[in-house]
Amino acid sequence: DPRMYGIKSKIRVVPDFPKPGIMFQDITTLLLDPKAFKDTVDLFVERYKDRNISVVAGIEARGFIFGPPIALAIGAKFVPLRKPGKLPGEVISEDYVLEYGKDCLQMHVGAVQPQERALVVDDLIATGGTLCAAMNLLECVGAEVVECACVIELPDLKGRERLKGKPLYVLVESH
Ligand code: 5GP
Repeated sequence: DPRMYGIKSKIRVVPDFPKPGIMFQDITTLLLDPKAFKDTVDLFVERYKDRNISVVAGIEARGFIFGPPIALAIGAKFVPLRKPGKLPGEVISEDYVLEYGKDCLQMHVGAVQPQERALVVDDLIATGGTLCAAMNLLECVGAEVVECACVIELPDLKGRERLKGKPLYVLVESH
């Protein structure tokens, strides 16, 4: 799809951010371009609109940018998966390991019902640890994860292999 080239061209790559050796994929420059931002949302909406998805789960923080417009357009609810200590209600938690250290995602109990069909949205997949934790939260409450969707994949890190066989859909790859 030619729209994907336009999207890729709007992602700024920032060397040595947030630390030396990291090539940070900056999606804020994509958001500055209304056509590229709309194309990004549209590509996901076209893929998911007739898939009977009732939940879009977005991962803090950049999954909160792309998830809600997709949810509204396909008629699904939006459920935020947040870092610890942010959600005021009763939560379930999933710990996961990062390259350096560990992190945790939380979801409100009762936000998702058993058997619901869920899409997990984030901006980028690197090692896949974050998406894996998100899928575990949804599966823990009995939901079915239909697919994970990201704008960017870093395929060299093989994060796709950590997604327990669930499909991953991405718009652009970065090496
Ligand atoms: P993973 O768990 O797959 O190793 O890392 C993915 C998570 O880290 C995502 O939530 C993503 O937002 C964040 N992340 C890691 N590297 C980058 C990057 O270069 N650019 C952006 N925008 N996010 C990143």
